[in-house]
Amino acid sequence: MNNLTISFIIPSYNEVDNIANIHMAIKEEMRLLHYNYELLFIDDGSTDGSVETLQRLAFCFPEIKYLSFTRNFGKEAAILAGLEHAAGEAVIMMDADLQHPPSMIHELIKGFEEGYDQVVAKRNRKGDSRLRTFISSTYYKCVNKAIDVNLSDGEGDFRLLSRKAVDALLTLSEGHRFSKGLYSWIGLEQKTVSYENVARENGETKWSFSKLLNYGIDGIISFNNKPLRLCFYMGAFILVASLLYIFITFFQVLKNGITVPGYFTTISAVLFLGGIQLVCLGVIGEYIGRIYLEIKKRPHYLIKQTNIKEREKHEVY
Ligand code: UDP
Ligand code: MG
Repeated sequence: MNNLTISFIIPSYNEVDNIANIHMAIKEEMRLLHYNYELLFIDDGSTDGSVETLQRLAFCFPEIKYLSFTRNFGKEAAILAGLEHAAGEAVIMMDADLQHPPSMIHELIKGFEEGYDQVVAKRNRKGDSRLRTFISSTYYKCVNKAIDVNLSDGEGDFRLLSRKAVDALLTLSEGHRFSKGLYSWIGLEQKTVSYENVARENGETKWSFSKLLNYGIDGIISFNNKPLRLCFYMGAFILVASLLYIFITFFQVLKNGITVPGYFTTISAVLFLGGIQLVCLGVIGEYIGRIYLEIKKRPHYLIKQTNIKEREKHEVY
């Protein structure tokens, strides 16, 4: 047994039926590995009695740590809380629903031992509908053109981060976190291992179509102001095109006099420009909205209950 500790960060929202299962599965995997470990459950405001289950488990197993939020703050907040409270030299982030197979833990730790700061478990899309696969791959192609960091389809939060990577992530203090991009932004050396898509064991996904759509927009807006630049180019292009059109029409009028009043061209121009202006306003609005949220400097989450002592948190480092 070496003295290094691995912290498992497990965000869970209404996953009462999965908590004991994932604990057993991780325990089983870690039995043969020579590391200390802790399981840090972040209960994201569950209403299904998860806290009581966590309390009971923590009473029997010293490796179980938990933080319970006052309400549902979202997975990003839960991950951040996990990173802030993890004591280990490396952390592994896993979903509570066993869709991140514990059998991959070996591979992740192997990458850590090889010296990588990030070891990412990449999911293939086996079993997903063709439409969903197509939409995601197109989305990633477009987003990677639009932003500076590189996002990859299937690479999410199931990953190992070294202490160096965790500390780097914690220096990013933005209120609106888009973790997928932040992992890439810190830019440390990364190894990728693949795993097969697994169906959820209990409960159901918390991702509705509208949540996915909003998440997609977050990905584009969170990293730089290229969308604003795009609005500028679009505006400039339309301006040049319309000037040209006005110029040509003007000479036609001079030559032939005014012909039939152009209802079609007028209504097309009004609708087209109106649409473009609304989109651009929307993009600007998104950025202003972010400034508004950012200057409030609200905490990312509030903790109702935990079995982690403050002293413990600071003692390790
Ligand atoms: N989760 C969370 N807060 C939320 C939504 C989800 O902590 O507001 C947790 C959830 O309990 C699970 C993980 O995030 O452990 C992934 O959620 P889910 O399985 O719904 O997402 P999917 O696997 O469908 O992408
Ligand atoms: Mg899931």
